[in-house]
Amino acid sequence: MSERSKPTVSVAAGKGGTGKTLFATSLAVALSEIHPGQVQLIDCDVEEPNADILLHPQITQHTPVNVLVPQVDLDICTRCGLCAKHCQFSAIAVIRDAVITFPDLCAACGVCAYVCPVGAITEVNRQVGSVAHGSTVRGIEFVQGRLSVGDQRATPVTRATGSCNDDSMITILDAPPGTACPMQETIEFSDYCILVTEPTPFGLANLEDSVETCRRMGIPCGVVINRDQAGRPGVEDYCTREGIDVLLHIPEDREIAEAYARGETLADAFPQWHDELVRVYEDVIRSLSQTATAKVEE
Ligand code: SF4
Ligand code: SF4
Repeated sequence: MSERSKPTVSVAAGKGGTGKTLFATSLAVALSEIHPGQVQLIDCDVEEPNADILLHPQITQHTPVNVLVPQVDLDICTRCGLCAKHCQFSAIAVIRDAVITFPDLCAACGVCAYVCPVGAITEVNRQVGSVAHGSTVRGIEFVQGRLSVGDQRATPVTRATGSCNDDSMITILDAPPGTACPMQETIEFSDYCILVTEPTPFGLANLEDSVETCRRMGIPCGVVINRDQAGRPGVEDYCTREGIDVLLHIPEDREIAEAYARGETLADAFPQWHDELVRVYEDVIRSLSQTATAKVEE
């Protein structure tokens, strides 16, 4: 566990639609009952943020997320073409007397400005998303990143959103689905990653990718099996083989699906789930403490 008073737990899934956000928001609601005013939910799924639909926060502030893109001073530029030659993303082109930039393709790497021999390139801000800040009626601090429509640079927005992590609070990060850069940018902020999956061959394949990603990054992980059904032991068997804790089984249940469709978390709609959700968090803390103790004894 990192040197902080309260841990950060990320909730991830190998694909969308597994119930990741339902679990993350339900965990936040359950924990807010026993730790009032000490829970923070950060929605890092910036391409399709939807934790607000389940937590109904009051948003009080929006912060823009900018990246630096090149602006060329044609009075200084000698049309040498070095910038275009070194750009890996074809985001700047020198065609005869014109130097054309394509800000939507730009990865904001700064290479063009670095290689320009005459200092003709200035880096200017371009907004790629925003971060909303607010709180819920239960006192959960709420943060949500959102990528600008038509933009594809999710990673800087994810990074800006995840960096709102408050060390003094119990923080739950709702990660983007999959195992690409935005997911990794999110779980990097966490002490432990809860992987939500389904008991299907597709769910298992995605889970294997997610576990591999967590292990490569050195982030301990456990599994929540959503829409669980009897007679589908594939995910459970895999976790047993790999020594991964199965933290919770959420059954395939029409009432849960209906509550979700109404915009209610498990903890809101079914008070009997409170203890189970809190128990998951306590299991995570126990696992982190055991790992820390084992490291000290080594
Ligand atoms: S590297 Fe600089 S001088 Fe050369 S074409 Fe690009 S902007 Fe112009
Ligand atoms: S900042 Fe990087 S990606 Fe953008 S135009 Fe310059 S070299 Fe290309």
